[in-house]
Amino acid sequence: MPILNADLHCHSVVSDGTLTPEALAARAAANHVELWALTDHDEIGGQHRAAAAAHAHGMKYLTGTEISVTFLGETVHIVGLGFDPDDADMLRGLEQTRGGRGDRALEIAAGLAAAGIPGTYEGALKYVGNPALISRTHFARYLVEAGICKDTGEVFRRFLTEGKPGYVPHRWATLKDAVQWIGAAGGMAVIAHPARYKFTANEEYALFSEFKAYGGGAVEVVTGSHTTSEYARYAETAREFGLAASRGSDFHSPGESHTDLGQLPFLPADLTPVWELLADRIR
Ligand code: AMP
Ligand code: MN
Ligand code: MN
Ligand code: MN
Repeated sequence: MPILNADLHCHSVVSDGTLTPEALAARAAANHVELWALTDHDEIGGQHRAAAAAHAHGMKYLTGTEISVTFLGETVHIVGLGFDPDDADMLRGLEQTRGGRGDRALEIAAGLAAAGIPGTYEGALKYVGNPALISRTHFARYLVEAGICKDTGEVFRRFLTEGKPGYVPHRWATLKDAVQWIGAAGGMAVIAHPARYKFTANEEYALFSEFKAYGGGAVEVVTGSHTTSEYARYAETAREFGLAASRGSDFHSPGESHTDLGQLPFLPADLTPVWELLADRIR
């Protein structure tokens, strides 16, 4: 029986999710996920726990992460799947990628203070599960708590995106490094939620062609960040570039995420699921 209900994108308290790897595994299993991957931002500290929890619930597991990359001035997310979670070069690369987050958070707080909202660094820290991984999401949760916005989406729109008081430009890993760390550790790189980037057609073409040239192998087609018409659009991109397809909810939190684990439509039947190419990496 081929695997259909794979969910290969979500976040725990090890990055900007609100559930532990164990609670996520229980939730995925309750939603009948057959193959699961935890993909914390720039961090693989939860991988051994996630794999053990998946097995305890009878699910198959692929290691995962979501690496922040700067490409043509935009932040692009590259999911890595099926790599060795103890690979030293990959661990070093991710540590470097996380490195600027502490100073960036202080600058975000300074920008918000200048806009009349004090105390957001301390406020965001209350939501941080991993001191090495303070993210905009943690600021967003605090601004909701403080009654400044009604939900995290509003915080991003009003305060945390380009041109807004809490936006701090940041240089992440390069596309080449991220794709090559994942490949050298035995895994497969996947372009996460491509519809989310503000690229022109030429820039998007450059992203996909460079990604392929560095050894990238798949694209997220069915994700919680895409609309139904975007599934069709990126299914077509997968065919054009000869890439496999991935499926993942991008679940962060029961209160915030509109897509739960394991609830998305299945991949279009003619595409190669990325997990077929990673069959020998499934545990
Ligand atoms: P960071 O890595 O600190 O820049 O934070 C990026 C994270 O912010 C993403 O992974 C999402 O979880 C979250 N995020 C980005 N844009 C939005 C949005 N418009 N609404 C809610 N969350 C968002
Ligand atoms: Mn996130
Ligand atoms: Mn992402
Ligand atoms: Mn994500």
